[in-house]
Amino acid sequence: GAAVLWFRRDLRLADHPALLAASGSDGHEPPGSRGVVPLFVVDPSLWGPSGDPRRAWLLRSLHALDDALGGGLVVREGDPVQVVPEVAREAGADEVHVSADYGPYGRRRDSAVAVAMEQAGGRMVATGSPYAVAPGTVRNGSGEAYKVFSPFSRAWQRQGWATPAAPVDGSAGQVAWQRVPGREWPEEPDLGGTVLPEAGEAAAQQTWHRFLEEKVHGYGPARNLPATAGTSTMSAHLKYGEVHPRTLLADLAALLQDGSLGQEQRESVETYRTELAWREFYADVLWHRPDSAREYLRPQLASMRHDDVRRGTGAERLLAWQEGRTGYPMVDAGMRQLHAEAWVHNRVRMIVASFLVKDLHVEWQHGARYFMQMLRDGDLASNNHGWQWVAGSGTDAAPYFRVFNPVTQGQKFDPDGEYVRRYVPELAHLAGGKAHTPWEVADGYAHGYPERVVDHAAERTEALARLAEVTG
Ligand code: FAD
Repeated sequence: GAAVLWFRRDLRLADHPALLAASGSDGHEPPGSRGVVPLFVVDPSLWGPSGDPRRAWLLRSLHALDDALGGGLVVREGDPVQVVPEVAREAGADEVHVSADYGPYGRRRDSAVAVAMEQAGGRMVATGSPYAVAPGTVRNGSGEAYKVFSPFSRAWQRQGWATPAAPVDGSAGQVAWQRVPGREWPEEPDLGGTVLPEAGEAAAQQTWHRFLEEKVHGYGPARNLPATAGTSTMSAHLKYGEVHPRTLLADLAALLQDGSLGQEQRESVETYRTELAWREFYADVLWHRPDSAREYLRPQLASMRHDDVRRGTGAERLLAWQEGRTGYPMVDAGMRQLHAEAWVHNRVRMIVASFLVKDLHVEWQHGARYFMQMLRDGDLASNNHGWQWVAGSGTDAAPYFRVFNPVTQGQKFDPDGEYVRRYVPELAHLAGGKAHTPWEVADGYAHGYPERVVDHAAERTEALARLAEVTG
């Protein structure tokens, strides 16, 4: 018989437990005894709301996967509830294998597909997940979910994770890829001026190994400096499952076992592991609280006054923020990096998000939605909880009253103004840290840089006044 492997957020062949299960290489049957039909379904419910950068990334990643399979990837457009059983029927397969999905939409979709498969006399089998520890697994002593990060992170580490699954080798006959006709590739969207790095499993491995060799040792200090390429840029690779986090964690563990690391280097490696834990934590929170993608985790803040962005000044300010012309160099540089690369450095994500919520008084959901449209790594759990964190409504204590100053943040984390000059050409003529304060320099506005849309000190006071209205 044959099995269908329905790829979703697991666009790789290495360390892929669902692939092993589909091919019978997981020890239950002789390896390669079952033909595997590789399938991807372009689901309008996900394709529609994805922005162009994510659509383009996904397509490029699928092409890379298709190449790795020797051209056998079946791509169909439509509702998976119809398409998946249809492809199974065409392939003569009674099993459809997947890596489990833990997002709110993915869970609903998978239950519906599982029912449809059963009605057709087959079954859907989920093996593995996009996380080192599946969401919903890590619990406290009373069996409840963790609500803040640090205890989760400790319990997550105690939980531990499996070592990477054995690689499969198509040429060694471990997987007998099988084809059914029907390839409905969507066209790649026009990205305008946005340039993406290479997508796909090979690119993910390459990016990761370069980071391991050259950067992870200095990650701790470097990760806060947006002008430096000090982070791994693995987020989109992880988002699409081009590499499994378990693979990264195994490499980090091997590094930590290497006795030659100095104290600071060890700490850097541990810090990187903790960042991966944030990704797992936010997925866990979303699994327990599917509504938290839209609803405030701290309901008290839901009734705060926000500016109306549908008309007037509110609409103009939101647009100025989106287009990177707020007159605050660090904010504008961040938003322009978003347009140029469909990615923004983490420090700057916090700065631009804080500015939208606390200086422009726009509700965080508007910013979260814009990020999801524009980011190549847009991920509902990490993004929307990241926004809640900035808005003071998130899981961990980032109290609302702690308002980021966009100017001093810039001066602190981009002291030489390099990041600002790279993304804001109207400020490229300003030397060093002066790029952060064009209003203090005679020729600051000589090249058309916009005036500040609001006064930070005044808006900070306004934000705190609005907070006082709901906290009493
Ligand atoms: P590195 O510093 O190299 O970190 C390694 C990996 O750890 C990342 O690839 C990511 O998978 C994970 N990670 C790091 N920081 C976080 C974090 N705070 N929360 C969750 N996971 C983290 N990350 C996304 O993957 N998708 C998003 O849509 C997203 N939206 C965000 C929105 C806001 C407002 C904020 C403040 C943060 C957001 N992040 C998001 C988290 C973080 O900014 C990015 O993961 C990081 O910048 C990606 O770059 P990197 O791969 O070089 O990160």
